[in-house]
Amino acid sequence: MVAIRNIALILSLVVLSLSASSRPAGPTVAEDPDSERDGNSSLFAQSAAEALARDFPSRDISFLLLDAHTGRVLASRWDHPDAPIPMGSLLKPFTALAYGEHHNYQYPSHTCRGTSTGCWLPRGHGDVDLIAAIAHSCNSYFRTLTENLTAADLSSTADRFELDRPGPEAIGPELAGLGNRWRTSPLRLARAYLELFRQRQQPGVSQVLDGMALSARSGTGAQVHRAFPVPDVLVKTGTAMCAHSPHAPGDGFTVVLTPADNPQILLMVRVHGVPGAQAARTAGEMLRRIEN
Ligand SMILES: [Zn+2]
Repeated sequence: MVAIRNIALILSLVVLSLSASSRPAGPTVAEDPDSERDGNSSLFAQSAAEALARDFPSRDISFLLLDAHTGRVLASRWDHPDAPIPMGSLLKPFTALAYGEHHNYQYPSHTCRGTSTGCWLPRGHGDVDLIAAIAHSCNSYFRTLTENLTAADLSSTADRFELDRPGPEAIGPELAGLGNRWRTSPLRLARAYLELFRQRQQPGVSQVLDGMALSARSGTGAQVHRAFPVPDVLVKTGTAMCAHSPHAPGDGFTVVLTPADNPQILLMVRVHGVPGAQAARTAGEMLRRIEN
């Protein structure tokens, strides 16, 4: 297998050098930072695709690996990544920005009492602000945020990040990805996270990104770090209604951008029939495999 990979690498290098030699006079590959990066990116994409296919063969695992600078898909296994599906709490960052747009980016504090205030964590998250609510994916907090939002209030944020808009019938917590009335395509959502990082100077966005960093350190995304011990990554997890067959009660989702301060790659993972926190573990294992 190693020999095959080496041959593949050599072939890629031959292709790269052929394409370089056929260029008209001008910068060589090595002197052209863009070409050099593209070449390295192709080699990385090829070896990542091989490693993920070999070491994560289960059809229960879907993934999209994107170049964080260009949004290009480097490797993937996802049936119909363009088709809108319920994406669960992966939508929460965009719900938060839509709320901010209509509330001068002033976010409330909230006390999550668990089951009694509609959170997935029975004992509750206690006092949470936006950053903690993103980190722990607190449903109770987002029920409060969406209490008076309508689908129309989400439209400009959806357009800004090129997400599919929620249907007009979506109300309340459905606008934070609970339920299945706001569907968007996995590929659009993955690229929306790249756009989120690009807009990190915009109001509200830095709090969302701080929440994703905290998720990786001590929130629902902490399992990524257990498997992939890189100090800083950005993570959001979610669980959504299973949209493929064979049917399961729910699918776990995780999106990871690494490294946190200047993401090079984005990995979105869906694991059939598990919670989001467990999908985070798989995402960490996949990153460890391709980044070594
Ligand atoms: Zn909560």
